Amino acid sequence: MRIDQHRAHLIRATVDGSPRWGVVEDGRVYKLNGTPFDAWERGTEMGPLSNLPLLAPTVPTKIVCIGRNYPAHAAEHGGEVPPEPLLFLKPPSSVIGPDVPIVLPPQSEQVEHEAELAVVIGRRCRDVTPQEAWNYVLGVTCGNDVTARDLQRRDGQWTRAKGFDTFCPLGPWLVIGLSEADVADLEVVCCVNGELRQCGRTSEMAFSPVQLIAYAAGIMTLEPGDVIMTGTPAGVGPLAVGDMVEVEVESIGSLRNPVID
Ligand code: MG
Repeated sequence: MRIDQHRAHLIRATVDGSPRWGVVEDGRVYKLNGTPFDAWERGTEMGPLSNLPLLAPTVPTKIVCIGRNYPAHAAEHGGEVPPEPLLFLKPPSSVIGPDVPIVLPPQSEQVEHEAELAVVIGRRCRDVTPQEAWNYVLGVTCGNDVTARDLQRRDGQWTRAKGFDTFCPLGPWLVIGLSEADVADLEVVCCVNGELRQCGRTSEMAFSPVQLIAYAAGIMTLEPGDVIMTGTPAGVGPLAVGDMVEVEVESIGSLRNPVID
C-alpha cells in the first residue's frame, strides 16, 4: 500500500502558540485538515510563507543516520565505504527548523557541517525489502548532520559528537508524492557564507535510500515521522560563530541556519 498523495510541499509552523501542518501553494500556506500520515485536505489560509516561522517538517521518534555512504567522503577521512551500512542515531532533541541557530557547544573546538538528503517515514515499518521500502516513505527534506569532529575522534563512538541540541537542522519543508526515481540522482550541496563547501549527487551513495530503510527496519521499527539521514558527500568542514550554513538538495529545497555560541 502506498501513501497516496500528489506531490506537495508540507511545512510545520507555530500558529496561535501551537504547531500546525500546512501545505504551500504559490508562496501561500494553507492549513492541513488531517495529518500527512493519514488522509488530509487543504484547509483555510494561514498566510504567506515568508511570514511564518517554520518548524522542522517532522517530529521523529529517532533519527537514523548513515556514516560513510559517499565514497568520496569516506576517502577524505581516510576510510572506505563499509561492507554494510554504518548506522548511528541522533536524538530527537537535536532537531531544529530552518533559520534556527546551530549552537556551538563549549566541549568542542571543531564542529562541522554535513549536507544530507533526509528521508521521512510515513508508516510504521519493520522487516521490509528494498523493493517494498519506498512504500513506507512520506517524503524528503534537507538535513544537516552537524558533527563535533574532535569529539567523534576522541570518543570512539558518536553519541556525543552527533547528539548536541541543534545538531540536526531539518527543512525547510517536506516534499511528498515523490517516487524512488525522483530522488535517485539529485545534487546535494552545502555552502557556508555563500561559498561552496560540499557538492555531490545522491547517485553516488553506496547504499541507496531504499537499501538503508530496509537495513534499518531489519533492526528497529521505524515509526511515522522518523528520519533516515542518508550520508554526506565530500567537502565537510568547520563552522564558526557568525557563519550562515546552507544545505541545498536539488529540486527539494534549501535549508539555512546561522551559527552562534
Ligand atoms: Mg552524516
